[in-house]
Parts: sequence; structure tokens; C-alpha cells
Amino acid sequence: MHHREVTPAGEYLARLETGRDWREQIEAFARERGIESAWFQGMGAVQDAEVWYYDQDDKEYEPIEFDEHLEVAACVGNVARLDGEPFAHTHAVLGRDDAGTLSGHLNAGTVFAGELHLRAFEEPLVREHHPGTDLDLWLNP
Ligand code: ZN
Repeated sequence: MHHREVTPAGEYLARLETGRDWREQIEAFARERGIESAWFQGMGAVQDAEVWYYDQDDKEYEPIEFDEHLEVAACVGNVARLDGEPFAHTHAVLGRDDAGTLSGHLNAGTVFAGELHLRAFEEPLVREHHPGTDLDLWLNP
């Protein structure tokens, strides 16, 4: 297992802005604060969502769009650099109006309300293409 010890560089609580994209706001915050590695968790609600499912056989992401109001029952993710920019790898469990859930890689979602806890680290984290999975994985954990 590739790993390294990291040093906490800052811890933030944030309220996501209504009407803006969930993931993009996290990336914008990371860019503004110069954060190159972080771990976060969040909760709230979105007005729609685009969830990606990674097909391990085809090695392709399948986007699935939901045009409905959803609870962000749980969101977890991390920030690393991808192609020189902060990328917020974001997973979520989303709740429907019948209390059922859907889940996956949250590519996009229009925020209704959101609360975030983010812990940043001193050491930059970089993603690079990994031939075995065809994913952009951590190069230097
Ligand atoms: Zn993912």
C-alpha cells in the first residue's frame, strides 16, 4: 500500500452557496486558499445531480443524471491536483423523496444547501493516469 504521513495545514467549516455547483465550489475554495491536498465530508441538499458510475470492464465512466431534489445524506471526498488544478474527488449518497437512496461519484449537483468540513494538508497530492485501472489515481500518497 502506497502511503505517507501528512501534516494538517488547516481545517475549515464552510457553507456551500445555493445555486452553485457542489464540486466546483470546493475546487474554487481550494484554488483560492492554495490547497493542494485535503479530505472533506459534507451534507445538505441538491436540486439535481450528475452521478458517474465507473464500469470496471469497459473502463469508462457512465454519467447518470437526476433531475430531482435530493438530500445529500453523506458526502465524502478529497482534493488533489489533476492537470495542475485542484480536483475534488467527490462521492455521495443521495436521498430521494421516498427515503430511498442512490449513490456514486458526484460529478455535478446544483446546491440547495450544503455544509462542509474540510481538512487541508501541507503535502501536495497529485493524480496521474494509472494504466491498470485507466483512472487518475494518486501518484504520490
Ligand atoms: Zn470517484
